[in-house]
Amino acid sequence: MEMFTQSPQQTQALGEKIGLDLKKGKIKQRTLCFFGDLGVGKTTFIQGLAKGWGIKRRITSPTFVFVKKYSPGFNHVDLYRIEKEEEAEGLGLEEMFADSQAVTMIEWAEKIKKLLPKERIDFYFDYISDKKRKITINYY
Ligand code: ADP
Ligand code: MG
Repeated sequence: MEMFTQSPQQTQALGEKIGLDLKKGKIKQRTLCFFGDLGVGKTTFIQGLAKGWGIKRRITSPTFVFVKKYSPGFNHVDLYRIEKEEEAEGLGLEEMFADSQAVTMIEWAEKIKKLLPKERIDFYFDYISDKKRKITINYY
C-alpha cells in the first residue's frame, strides 16, 4: 500500500490511526519497522503511533540511547548510530519481539535486516518534496 502525506501533521495522523488499530487488536503484528533516510518523517509518524496506542508523553528521538521504553508497552528503537549488526546485540531486541504485551517500533531497521522478526510490518519512507512524503506499507 502506498500513501502520500503533505505535512508532518498528516503523517502523525496516519500514525495515530495505525496506533489505534494496534491497540484495538485490529493489527496483529507487534513489531513495526521503519526504513528511510534522516528527516523523512519516521519519528514524526511514530509520535502519532504512540498517541494512538495511548502514550500521553511526547515521544522524542532516542538516537543517543538506541532504545526508549514507554508505558504502557511501547518500545522505541533507533539504530541510526549502529554501523554493524552485531552492535544491536545486547539491546534486548529478542525479548522485545517476544513480548506479546508490547509493541516495538524500529527506526533504521535496514541496519539489522537479518535480525528482524518475520511477523512485522514494514514502512518505507521517501522524500518527495519539502512537505511531501511517500509512505509504502508492507504487511507480512
Ligand atoms: P526521521 O525520524 O525520519 O529522521 P523526523 O520525523 O525526525 O524524521 O523529521 C521529519 C522532518 O520533516 C520534520 O522536521 C518534519 O517537520 C518534516 N516534514 C515535512 N513534511 C513532512 C511530512 N509530510 N511528514 C513528516 N515529516 C515532514
Ligand atoms: Mg528519527
